[in-house]
Amino acid sequence: MTGKLFIVATPIGNLADFTFRAVETLKTVDFILCEDTRTTGKLLSHYEISNKLVSFNAQSEDGKSKIVLEKLLQGESGALVSDAGTPTISDPGVRLVSFLLENNIQVVGIPGANAAILALSVSGIPTDSFAYEGFLPQKKGRQKILKELVLEKRTIVLYESVHRIEKLISELNEYMPERFVVIQRELTKSFEECWKGLPGEIIIDLSQKIIKGEFVVIIAPIGWKIN
Ligand code: SAM
Repeated sequence: MTGKLFIVATPIGNLADFTFRAVETLKTVDFILCEDTRTTGKLLSHYEISNKLVSFNAQSEDGKSKIVLEKLLQGESGALVSDAGTPTISDPGVRLVSFLLENNIQVVGIPGANAAILALSVSGIPTDSFAYEGFLPQKKGRQKILKELVLEKRTIVLYESVHRIEKLISELNEYMPERFVVIQRELTKSFEECWKGLPGEIIIDLSQKIIKGEFVVIIAPIGWKIN
């Protein structure tokens, strides 16, 4: 019997945000592909899961996909996790999944945390239709995408790291100063924080603080604001 690959979502900060099904799956598969063995090791030890961890990241994805296929064809089952949240969403694994599907291997999703969906759900901004952009390119192409996003009428969801969050909000102030923005920092963690307002208002507050952590930035549809 050919094995399956399980795509297992992991917590994005609060270790309690993990499902029974995810724990059971990680206990029973033959191997777990993960970005950072130390990060996933901590999660496994919290849930008393002992299993074989195999390093799998964007650089090793293509080479390791063939090895994974061979193992699954031999009847082993595997799981893919990322450092946090849902694998393949701004994380490695898309090429692996498509390669396995091309080879008629069953890929099964175990749902759980995702920073974009969680941020949207508590933003108060319309969610019926949205454009998920993930991380903007750091240099080449960044300004071009920002110009294109000015024309995007729907809610826009961006990921940003601490290194560029002030830069991003300044850019939004330059390109779309009238668009209402919600920024969620450190979702599910003890120091979870949220900013709401126009980019020009938020940038003043951000620049006066020592900012750390991870961010989701949600840009409201054209013409929409919280009254
Ligand atoms: N696959 C993940 C998911 O399902 O959300 C996203 C991985 S991506 C490499 C990491 C980015 O997600 C961070 O830089 C940040 O923009 C966002 N993120 C992850 N955890 C977060 C959290 N607890 N609070 C806010 N943003 C978070």
